[in-house]
Amino acid sequence: MANETIGHVNCAHCGQPAEVRRYKTGARKLYYHCHDCGQIRPSLASGQRWIEAHATWIGADASEPAAPVVTPAPAANESQPVAKDERKPKRRSFFGGVDL
Ligand SMILES: [Zn+2]
Repeated sequence: MANETIGHVNCAHCGQPAEVRRYKTGARKLYYHCHDCGQIRPSLASGQRWIEAHATWIGADASEPAAPVVTPAPAANESQPVAKDERKPKRRSFFGGVDL
């Protein structure tokens, strides 16, 4: 099953709009699927930040980084990403769960 599309980004290779998705397992990293280039999956923080910086998000909650990537969060909700603490993000039973 394909993961849910949570945003769009212009492909770094061809410039076409591509679908941003997030893995459901592991560190829940971002990747995008370009219809011309295929899946682009940056595995390190810099590549993840590129997607976060360039993507247009579908839902407000989708932009919340799951991994400890330092990014300005557009909306403050109850689990802000904290890079300096060792605080573990709360595991959520559903995708987001914030419905405002
Ligand atoms: Zn492409």
